[in-house]
Amino acid sequence: MAIEKTFSIIKPNAVKKNVIGKIITHFEDNDLKIAASQLINLDRPKAEEFYAEHKERPFFGELVDFMTSGPIMIMCLSGEDAVAKNRNIMGATNPAEADEGTLRKLYGDSLGENAVHGSDSPASADRELALFFSTKEICNA
Ligand code: ADP
Ligand code: MG
Repeated sequence: MAIEKTFSIIKPNAVKKNVIGKIITHFEDNDLKIAASQLINLDRPKAEEFYAEHKERPFFGELVDFMTSGPIMIMCLSGEDAVAKNRNIMGATNPAEADEGTLRKLYGDSLGENAVHGSDSPASADRELALFFSTKEICNA
């Protein structure tokens, strides 16, 4: 399997719960490395651009409100099969349906406030990483 890079966000509800370290431990325990990271406040235009695929959905406004409600931790994760592996570590979109031990089960509060984001494909990872990091900010981890 190839080494991939994927884009990860620790969402505002999880940052507020002070579980950044606990979440990163799940990545490290699964052999994903942090190749870039930053704590940022997302502004509305950037949140709307990031979630553009959902702009016609009824929850779009609420999603942008939530993602701009407090600091988020953005990361590039690197490792074997990183895109799919991160999605497995995260669990289902709805924390109520996520498997035991997954990040969304452990730290998600609701379908909207589900603690973490992870790219859903290598193409999404490329788009999302380019939105937030320059190539020189991504290290060979
Ligand atoms: P995922 O984050 O698992 O890739 P989606 O791309 O479908 O899920 O949705 C993006 C984000 O939008 C979700 O992580 C969640 O925060 C929010 N979301 C998705 N569906 C709903 C919904 N029906 N109501 C409220 N928020 C939602
Ligand atoms: Mg998605």
